[in-house]
Amino acid sequence: MPSKVEQIICPSCKEVKFDEIIERCDGLKIVRCLSCGLAYLNPRPVPEEIYKLYEEGYYTGKIDKEIGYAGHSGSIHEIKYYCPYGFDILLEETKLNNKRVLDIGCSFGKFVYWMRKAGANAVGIDISEESTAWGRKKLSLDLRKETLESLDEQDSSFDVITMIDIIEHIVDLDGFMSKLSSLIKPGGLVFVQTPNFESYEKWHKQWRYLYTGLEHILFFDSTSIDKIFAKYDMFPSRETSVFCTIACDKDTYFKNRGSIKNKLRSILLRLPDCFSFVHLLLSKFFISKHVYRCDTIGKNGAIIIGCYRKKNNN
Ligand SMILES: [Zn+2]
Repeated sequence: MPSKVEQIICPSCKEVKFDEIIERCDGLKIVRCLSCGLAYLNPRPVPEEIYKLYEEGYYTGKIDKEIGYAGHSGSIHEIKYYCPYGFDILLEETKLNNKRVLDIGCSFGKFVYWMRKAGANAVGIDISEESTAWGRKKLSLDLRKETLESLDEQDSSFDVITMIDIIEHIVDLDGFMSKLSSLIKPGGLVFVQTPNFESYEKWHKQWRYLYTGLEHILFFDSTSIDKIFAKYDMFPSRETSVFCTIACDKDTYFKNRGSIKNKLRSILLRLPDCFSFVHLLLSKFFISKHVYRCDTIGKNGAIIIGCYRKKNNN
């Protein structure tokens, strides 16, 4: 167990009562709010301990290979030729041409790159200097080392805001949602992806998101995520969709990670830039077919993709 932990009330609705769902191997518990249904880590590390996770090395695995996104280390090939998961859903929901868009937690800038390619005036923010500096230098993207709370932009600045695998990490949920709601234009779209806690019901101790260290502190399902958005005047523009094309159970997940196909992929991704044609061919004729289209599989799917519109003023 981490050295400093604290008991908290529901970060979404402030209810104090909860059911204990599971005790993890590190002694921390995941509980579920009896009022809004949000599951959350409780007790959880104090905020300073959580922020320490995101210091230098989070995206490169220099500190600890078990946390963060070491496998996502900046690869120009990976960013340019492999469409981000869920991007097709975003394009079904809105045109991006000439829209001002913000990607929160942009990492090396993959989503920002694809939104710019679709015509958007795209900005990305991330807590990490190493990933944002990489994206500025290698891809000439507008990536800034900022948190949402520190971002200095006028109210109603953005037509579209995206957040991929971010909301489950947020320490001050109300502060985050309040700023989000002020930055999005009335009628604007917020596009969110997060692990789906309903898939826990199927996999229990085999659920792979139980094994992501202390980074994930909130666990949403399709009901509790609608509630936190509604609290800040944002409502689903389509029925919140649950998707799965990836393994939800840890055995399959770790087996896939170590598979020959995956090892080959990581070697290919490290090839020098002049080998871009290899990835262009692979992405055109093979990989994009598997990556591009999300399949809806119902409530046990691994990932929630939500599209929320800010209420119009009139
Ligand atoms: Zn609650």
